This record gives sequence, C-alpha cells and structure tokens, in this order.
Amino acid sequence: MEIKFCKNRINLIHSFGISRSSNDYYDIIYIYILDGDIIARGEAAPSKRYNESVELILSVLNKGLTIPENCNSRDHLWNFLKPQLKGISSLEAAVNMAVWDWGAQKEKVPLFNMFGFKDEILPKTSYTIAIGNLNELDERLEESEQCSILKVKLGTPDNDKEIIRIIRKKTDKLIRIDANEGWDYEMAKNMAFWLADMNVEFIEQPFSALNLKDTKRLKSISPLPLIADENSISSNDLNGLVDCFDGINIKLMKCGSFDEALKMIDLAKKLELKIMLGCMVESSVGITAAAHLSSACDFIDLDGNLLIKDDPYNGVKIEDGHLKLQSLKAGLGLNLKQKKFELL
Ligand SMILES: [Mg+2]
Repeated sequence: MEIKFCKNRINLIHSFGISRSSNDYYDIIYIYILDGDIIARGEAAPSKRYNESVELILSVLNKGLTIPENCNSRDHLWNFLKPQLKGISSLEAAVNMAVWDWGAQKEKVPLFNMFGFKDEILPKTSYTIAIGNLNELDERLEESEQCSILKVKLGTPDNDKEIIRIIRKKTDKLIRIDANEGWDYEMAKNMAFWLADMNVEFIEQPFSALNLKDTKRLKSISPLPLIADENSISSNDLNGLVDCFDGINIKLMKCGSFDEALKMIDLAKKLELKIMLGCMVESSVGITAAAHLSSACDFIDLDGNLLIKDDPYNGVKIEDGHLKLQSLKAGLGLNLKQKKFELL
C-alpha cells in the first residue's frame, strides 16, 4: 500500500462571489491510496474562512505520511493516519474519503452501503447562484436548468432584494438563501419577512458565527427557518445551536471525516435539527463522496462540481434534479474523464 498526493487547480466557469470573497479558481489536493488494483481517492478543498490553504496542507504532506504495515482494516488505517494530519479538517476529509473508498473497494460494495444506506432515489440538489453582475443573472439561471432548486448567495451591500426580484421575474423555482454571515439584525429581520413571500425555503447563516445573540432573536420571529453553516463545524457545536437555528449544514471539509459527519447526522436527528449537506467548490471526487451521505439528509447542496469547467472526474450525476450515484461501482464510484493518466 502507498499514499500519493497531487495539487490541482479547478477553474470556475464564472467568478464565484459570496458576501466576503470572489474567486476565479481554487487549488485543491487529491489524495490517492494505491493498493494492488485499487486506486482509492480523496479531495481536500481548503477554505480561507477556516484558516486552511493548499500551502498548509502541502507543508504536512511534503514531510510524508507513514502507512501501517499489514493493514487490513479501515479503522486501523484511519486511526494510524489521522494524528499525522495536524488537525487540518480539509486534509483529514481527503484522507478519510480515500480510506473509506479503499475499504469499500476491498469489500466490493458502493460506499453508501458501508453506511447502511440503501440504493434509492436520492434527494434533489440545489444549484448555486453566486454574487456577480446583475446583468448576467439570466445566463446563470439558464445554466441552472438541470436543477429545480436554487441556492442564492446574498449579503451584498445593497442589491439583495434586486437579485431576488430579477430571479423571480424569470422563474418560480424554490429558492434557498445563503447570506454567508453578511447581514446585521435589521437587514436580516427585514429580509426574512420579505423573502417569506417569495417561495423561499430557508435562510442560511444570516449573521457572523460570533453573533449567536442576534441569531437567537431572529429565530424567535423569523417566518423562515434558519440553517447554520459557519456556526456548524462539528458535532461539538450542535447542542449550542438548538435555540438559534432550525438546522445545520454538514460539510466534509469542515467536519473532517465521514465518521464525524455520521455523528453529526445522528445528533442533529436527536436534537430535531434539519440536516443540510453542503460542499465547497470541489471537483467530482469530493462532491461524489458527500453524495453517499445524501439519503440521510433533508436539504442537499452538492453542486461544486457543476460550477467548474475542468473537472478531471466523473462521479455523481444529476437526473431530473436528483443526485444519482454509480451504484454498481464499488467505493466512491469515480472515473477519470480522460483515460490518459491518474493525476498522481
Ligand atoms: Mg453556506
């Protein structure tokens, strides 16, 4: 068995703007576990919001990861590798994906099977309309055609209502709002009531993650449910969110492993919090990995791979707006798009 890694740049079809940043590309890291005929894969999409970067990840990987001798169990491999990853969540997520992919390929079953989930029709995913030029909204809506739910990024200085008005002139599709910590209390209160008449399903992260006081106030009056994203990193956060939010957004890049994501799903159900499954801008490796958890979640936002123009892999697809995994393939279910070489 061998572990390899490589850096790859994924370029966006259009600039990706949210309340705090705009990007034309993201650098990601692929992790590969090679074992006989098995190539198991994982992806790290580090986020500056959580003080992670490709440089930080490479500073760990360049020193080399040690693999246990005679490793036959997934838990053994993960418990051996995890302490070497220095608590970098996106790197942990990548290595953990590869470990689970390896385990499922050895068992010759699709990954969701390992979680006890069945082969069923998966939920629909939303398609993100990022913050950008208002004149280009029509084009973005045309590109969202394969999805019947829109996730609209708000938190602009003064265009939030105009963005929704323009979208509503074109489509009555269900809208989910993500303010990415961009509002203050008066703005959020005003928007929550205004959006409630616009076929909007929920509002994600209206305030700074530090401002739970206003979040709790807003929850007590908001006609729309509030979903925690920047406030919901791991299962340790959930008990503290019950009075402030109606649901949580789970991302592998934040929580660092399938093991932790499954723990969050269980705890959220106990606490009666709705569960959203989200992503960073990622290629089909990370998005397909997350999709294996989708049957246990209420709201799916796995569209990072749809927003890039040079995805090296094919994995989860979209059929009639629903996610569709390659359920006859073992592991994550990925193919290289061009059969020339694996990126390692
Ligand atoms: Mg979000």
